[in-house]
Amino acid sequence: PRTLPDPHLQLSDIFIAVKTTGRFHSTRLTLLLETWISRTKEHTYIFTDAEDGSAALKGYNMVVTSCSPEHSAQGLSCKMSAEYDHFMASDKKWLCHVDDDNYVNPGALLSLLSGFPPGGDVYVGKPSLDHPIRAHELLPDNTTREVDFWFATGGAGFCLSRTLAEKCRPGRGAPVGFIVEQRLGIPLVHSAMFHSHLENLLLLTPRHVPLQVTLSYGLFENKMNSVELQGTLSKEEDPSRFKTVHCLLYPMTNWCP
Ligand code: UDP
Ligand code: MN
Repeated sequence: PRTLPDPHLQLSDIFIAVKTTGRFHSTRLTLLLETWISRTKEHTYIFTDAEDGSAALKGYNMVVTSCSPEHSAQGLSCKMSAEYDHFMASDKKWLCHVDDDNYVNPGALLSLLSGFPPGGDVYVGKPSLDHPIRAHELLPDNTTREVDFWFATGGAGFCLSRTLAEKCRPGRGAPVGFIVEQRLGIPLVHSAMFHSHLENLLLLTPRHVPLQVTLSYGLFENKMNSVELQGTLSKEEDPSRFKTVHCLLYPMTNWCP
């Protein structure tokens, strides 16, 4: 029955796409490789815009796109289409997209996605705003109409089931949230377990931090925003707190204190 969850789902059924850019390889990306990507290496694909022969990147699934390295709508949606194409060519059941300032908790991600029925149309993530986005859709007769839709913030990550992905080619720069909600009428499943640095991460209770699907760090209102978590590593050694979270989840990691 289509309403039962999928207890057979495995972590390796999830295609995790990480969006990065050349100048963040040695900083942001390296931190991810040392932490969560070390647990999901085989099915994690890193989408970038620059060749990089560094030894640290050897052995990972790097996809060097010809997308512009700019933080423009065009550069970013170009990488999203590349992620989509690679996912479609794979045998994976889910496409999860994250930025290079996200920590992905593999166990929490698997439990979340296992709760959805196999073969269902699912778009799950955290809305980027507390209200839907209003846009003007261009109609075939060149008039426009106002449409409202929820948009999962790319900065917190989101996941798309294969069944739904097959119905929505993100062509011509139209963002995934728009295609899914407007064209297909499938609502975003709002999850509070995805986090971007555009929310106050200090509000997450420390004991809830290791249960979240994604975390982030970065600037928020001109101040460093990261989760609050006690550990042996100081804030100077681990400003993002990603290493501290990782050592809590995987204490046997060789570099953990
Ligand atoms: N990014 C990119 N090209 C750029 C700048 C950023 O592809 O020129 C990527 C970056 O690697 C990250 C995402 O876009 O995965 C968001 O960038 P950032 O965190 O710097 O900005 P935010 O949107 O969070 O303010
Ligand atoms: Mn960011």
